This record gives sequence, C-alpha cells and structure tokens, in this order.
Amino acid sequence: MELSHRYAALLTSPDGMLREAPAETLDSEKSELEFQAHWFAGDFGANFLTATAGERVEIVQFGVWNHEAGPDFSDAAVRFPDRPGAPVLRGSVELDTRAEDWESHGHGANPAFDDVILHLYLRHGARQPFTRTSQHRQVAQVQLDRRQLDHRPTPPGTLPLAKAGRCHAPLRGLPREKIHTLLAAAAQYRMEAKHRRWQRLVAVRGYDQALFQSLAITLGYKENKLPFALLAQRLPLKVLRAEARGAMGLLLGLSGFLREPEFNPKPEAQETRDYVRECWEHWWPQRSALERLALADDAWTLGGIRPANHPQRRLAAMRQLARRWPEVRALIDQPGGNLAKDVTRFLTGLRDPFWDHHYTLSSAPMAKPLALIGTTRATEMLANVFFPLAIAARPARWEEYRKLPTASTNRRVETAVARLFAVDAETAGRGEWVKTAVHQQGILQIYEDFCLQDDSNCENCSFPERVGKFEFQAVEY
Ligand code: SF4
Repeated sequence: MELSHRYAALLTSPDGMLREAPAETLDSEKSELEFQAHWFAGDFGANFLTATAGERVEIVQFGVWNHEAGPDFSDAAVRFPDRPGAPVLRGSVELDTRAEDWESHGHGANPAFDDVILHLYLRHGARQPFTRTSQHRQVAQVQLDRRQLDHRPTPPGTLPLAKAGRCHAPLRGLPREKIHTLLAAAAQYRMEAKHRRWQRLVAVRGYDQALFQSLAITLGYKENKLPFALLAQRLPLKVLRAEARGAMGLLLGLSGFLREPEFNPKPEAQETRDYVRECWEHWWPQRSALERLALADDAWTLGGIRPANHPQRRLAAMRQLARRWPEVRALIDQPGGNLAKDVTRFLTGLRDPFWDHHYTLSSAPMAKPLALIGTTRATEMLANVFFPLAIAARPARWEEYRKLPTASTNRRVETAVARLFAVDAETAGRGEWVKTAVHQQGILQIYEDFCLQDDSNCENCSFPERVGKFEFQAVEY
C-alpha cells in the first residue's frame, strides 16, 4: 500500500500540521428552504453576525447541508470572538423562519438536536424565546437580517451545495491522472485506518463476531447503526446460530418490535398473525431473562426511511447472514474469484419466506418479492467490510477494489466534491469524482483531515500548498 504512505506524508509534512440590526419583516414569498440556501451561500455574511445576546458570531464553516431528519446543517464551525479564548465550536446549525419553531417543531426535546451550536431565525413573536437542547444547554441565537437579500435573486432550482474551497485552484491545474493518484492515496490511507480499528475489534471479540458486528452495523446504515451494533453485541453470532429457528423471534423481541401494535396485527393479516405468533413463541420463554437488554422504543430512527429499508427487514437480513455464516466466511477467505461479483450475488440472493413479501410486521403483503439486501447495501458492505479485509489478507485485491463502482453518494461526499472541485450540486452528485468507491473514500478522507479541521474558512488550510508537494510520480494507475 505504497500510496497510503504518500498521503500520510502529505498530512505530516514539516511546513505545519494539518489544519485545519435585525430585520422587522419577513418576505413571505421566500420559503425556509430558500433562506437556508441564501445562508449556505453566505448571502447573510459570515463575519460578523450579532447574536441575540449582543455578542459577535463568526461562521468559520457552513458545514454540510442536511436534507434529511435532524438539524439543517451538520459539521459546521462557529467562533464567538467576544468570549475569552474564542474557541471554535463545532456542531450543527438550525435555521427556522420563526424563533418559536424550535419548540413548536419539538427540537428542544429531540436528542438529535443536542449538538446544535447556533439557532438562526428570521423573526420572533412578542417575546423573545430561548433556544435550549434536551440537555438544557442554551444555544446561541442569531436573527438574520433579510434586508441583506434585497438585491439577491432567489437561488435557482439547483441550490448551492457549498462554497468552493481555496484548494480548487491547485486541483484544477492538475491532470486527471494525478488527481486519481491523490484520491487513491487518501483512500488507501483510510482503508489502513479502518483495518487497524478492525484488528482492535478482533482482539476483543474474535474474528467471526467482529465480522458479524461490522456487517450488522452496515445493515443499520445510516440512521440505525447504533441499535444494530447493540443487537449484534447482545445477540452475538454464536447465539443466533445456536437458536436457528428461534433467531428471528429473539431479534425482533430484543429490538422491541414485539411490543404493541405489532403483536396485534390486523385480523385479516392471517399470514402476519401466524408469523408474529411463531416469533413470539420463541421470544416468550426468554423474555424475562432478556427483557432488560431489549432496546428502548425510541432506539430506532424510522422517519424518512424507505419501507424496503425498514429495520425489521434488515433484522431478517441479519438473521440470514448468521444462518449462512460458513458461506460469508468463504467469500472473505476465497483466494481468487471476483469478490465484488461473488459478494453481490450472495447478498442480493438472500431470501426469507416472510420478509420477501413484507415491508414491516404490520404492512400488507407486497405483490412482488423484494430482495432483503439490495445492490446499494451490498456495495456499501463491499466497500466498508469485505474489501478492507480481503485487501489486508491479499493486497492484490486493491486492483479489484479500484474498479468498484459506487451505488450512491451522500451529502458529505457531495459537499466535499463541491468544495474541492468548485462544481455545482448536480455535478457533485453525479460527476466523475463520485463514481468509484476509491474516489469517494479518498475525498472523504481529505474532507475529514482538512475541511473538518479548518477553522479559518480555508485561509490557513495547508492542503492547497501540500497538493503541490505530493509525490505523484511512478504510480501505475
Ligand atoms: S478547508 Fe482546505 S481542503 Fe477544505 S475546501 Fe478549504 S482549502 Fe480545500
């Protein structure tokens, strides 16, 4: 893995360690989304906003625009220059049209909003409300001045994703092959770090359980990684394999899915009633012993999840992986073959008589069968588990991994692409730099090592200069 050393050198080169009057009215024609787009584009300014309490606020990083559940912007960084030492705070930013929306939308009681460091709003009612998290931490508020937008056009259909970084100039000047090499080096570095974490897990849990746990976590990606990790710990591979027929009952019971209303499916759902009854009969004898380990009702994030990806279906996939474990091991251990094809064929071919036709325990049967694991999930499992292990055992597998296409991107990757390559949102989501797992992993590594460490809005980031010193030559790619 020679390339990873070059990226490590880029990180540690001796030239310094890596870096990293309120409006009164609201334009009712603009939606909250448009205000978010203007803020993200920097149209409200970054230096300096004035917080409601009178102190100055500097936006150091606008973060990643989150279009899913949770705060509007994650990975943001702000500084409060009037506070002693003025440390940079990192966390999420929420933008509401009305300050009161924080409470009326339930953010104050929602732990997903606990890392919010700044609450932006455009107006408030007769009394100025406080913004507090579920941990009772007070969050700084800034009332944005919409008059600053008077001469700004409404953002077009393709909303800005992120401001181009200072590094886009040196990157733009590089031939494509050199960018490929740089990203491959960062991806190798990332893979080696994953492998070190993997070795620590193996030392504690043993190879098979470590592998099972890693696969379970990818089944929970991305909202439910923690509950899947907990389940794999509390119902380890050995237990699930020993239970065989009762494994699904234990998984559903420990997940909390055999509580109301699933246990009382509609009378007409005979097949479901029979299935739940069978699961319950396996869960019931062990319930008193295991109940204290069962996940709480709020352990699962279900909002915004597509029915095909419901955790209950993913539990069925987990059960099938345990059941067919010798085949999973054989895939990792095989010396030859085409790993991507073999793993994808195996994972997308997993079947379950009930879950092939059901989204959830309470949904009506589907007309057509649906795979337990689709190609997107299989590709994630390949990139995050199968290839890192296979390459560690046989480095020649890297050539195969290099060709692994990605099945999807995410906001963080796209934001990084927009910053590094100064492209619009559409290109960031579909362009050349997000098409392979190697590119995505390399981009994420650079983003985490530099963008997320930077507290100068690119000004003091050393990546642009280090790109010029990177060792590009003599690499076959
Ligand atoms: S922080 Fe550094 S790596 Fe990130 S966009 Fe700015 S210059 Fe580029």
